[in-house]
Amino acid sequence: MAARLWLNGTKAYLGAVAFRQCYGRGGTGQMTARKGVNPAECDVFVIGGGPAGATSAALLAEAGLHVVLADKDKHPRFHIGESLLPHNLPLLDRLGVRGQIEASEMRKHGIEFVSPYHGKSVRYDFGRALDKRFPYSFQVRRSSFDEVLLRNASAKGAEVVEQCRVTDVAFLEPGDPVVTASLADGTSRQWRPRFVIDASGRDTLLASQLGLKERNSRNNSAAVFGHFTNARRLEGRDEGHITIVWFDQGWFWFIPLSDGTTSVGAVCPVDVFKNRTADMESFFCTLIASSPEIAKRLQGATLKGGVTATGNYSYFAKQLTGERFLLTGDAAAFIDPVFSTGVYLAMLSGFWAAEAVQGCVARPARATRLLRRFEARNRKAAASFTWFIYRIREPAMRNLFMSPRNMFRVEEAVLALLAGGIFDGWKVRGRLYIFQVIYYATKLSHLRFWFFKGKQRHVDCPRAAAGS
Ligand SMILES: Cc1cc2nc3c(=O)[nH]c(=O)nc-3n(C[C@H](O)[C@H](O)[C@H](O)COP(=O)(O)OP(=O)(O)OC[C@H]3O[C@@H](n4cnc5c(N)ncnc54)[C@H](O)[C@@H]3O)c2cc1C
Repeated sequence: MAARLWLNGTKAYLGAVAFRQCYGRGGTGQMTARKGVNPAECDVFVIGGGPAGATSAALLAEAGLHVVLADKDKHPRFHIGESLLPHNLPLLDRLGVRGQIEASEMRKHGIEFVSPYHGKSVRYDFGRALDKRFPYSFQVRRSSFDEVLLRNASAKGAEVVEQCRVTDVAFLEPGDPVVTASLADGTSRQWRPRFVIDASGRDTLLASQLGLKERNSRNNSAAVFGHFTNARRLEGRDEGHITIVWFDQGWFWFIPLSDGTTSVGAVCPVDVFKNRTADMESFFCTLIASSPEIAKRLQGATLKGGVTATGNYSYFAKQLTGERFLLTGDAAAFIDPVFSTGVYLAMLSGFWAAEAVQGCVARPARATRLLRRFEARNRKAAASFTWFIYRIREPAMRNLFMSPRNMFRVEEAVLALLAGGIFDGWKVRGRLYIFQVIYYATKLSHLRFWFFKGKQRHVDCPRAAAGS
């Protein structure tokens, strides 16, 4: 297992050899990358200043390490992924930024599911989750949220270099990384860190460079989204709820932001996008028109700034760690936006990355064990959500979400998971197993229903729900 963690014999090694052949190593231990230019040394080099990178950079700099963080963009910059989970709160507390987020962003107290197949909507309040400590979260403008995290990393001592695009990471034997980046003025710079954290998000810099990236065959979806003013929102305390609306081709998100803008996106199988004949904006409007609920909420609303599409978004890296590097956040994997887990998992992974790297730098002999733990934690966190995510479009799952029942406190347990409570132990996990049993029983009853009644395409109906 340990042997698998290290990338000897892979492209990393080939890159290292190639690098050595080109540049060699200086006699004093200083490596000369280009005539007259020595790579700057640092303890940790973080690629990317999104939630994962900014989190790990802040924690490592606070621990006294010399951290350089490079982001290809200048912050604030646009990013999708606006709905956070309640379990983000303790992470924001630990970073010392919750106050800033609280002051400017919309509070999210729960989730609303709308099903045209049931002709109703159901609201879930995080305050009812099994673990009552985290009753709300935030809907955020990612431009300002990410900037808060990035400036926090800088305030804690990380050297933040914006408009600095990392173009290559070469590994010298036995793994010494050399990072090459290009700057806005067209010049390039090199660093020689003791450890590299790849937090480059969907650019998946290292996973792509090292051939580790794999498409997730269980989730072949794409998304198109835009921002609207004057959308019709829920009222009162529920205004900040995220709304998930199912429709024949997939599902919509409806995320209200504090500045009055509402983020609306449609997620559908890739084939729906491939078969479109119109341009992306017209296609988005057609999807909206096919959902009476979303169309109603957007009546009189104005699309601001055009639409954006993200194709084939689900993937994972076969391996998250190697000698002197690890992948964190979206640079390691992205599952699906449906339960708003992306930023939470990215920040959580940023915490684990900081812990692992601090240990690796302080005690290299323990590196294998630390990196193995980092990898296992990340895989387990993602796996906590995937069972639900992969089934969200299935009628049986829809029925369960549309007909909540708190038998054995199962509903509270599901809410705890939706809040991000993946470490709540057997109290939650045991009840989630009960939910899974109910799901399979519901599915079986659907199959019998379908078998005996024939013809019906949709088996969604309130009476087919579990327990009813
Ligand atoms: C359609 C869609 C909807 C989503 N909705 C939600 C949601 O509602 N809630 C949620 O929690 N998540 C959502 N997500 C997921 C969320 O956007 C990500 O999981 C989250 O942003 C991951 O954070 P990160 O720090 O890993 O990466 P990112 O936030 O992507 O940050 C990566 C950073 O790296 C920088 N970078 C990239 N390449 C380089 C390079 N070569 N050199 C230097 N810098 C580089 C980028 O500029 C960027 O700042 C959604 C995702 C999609 C696709």
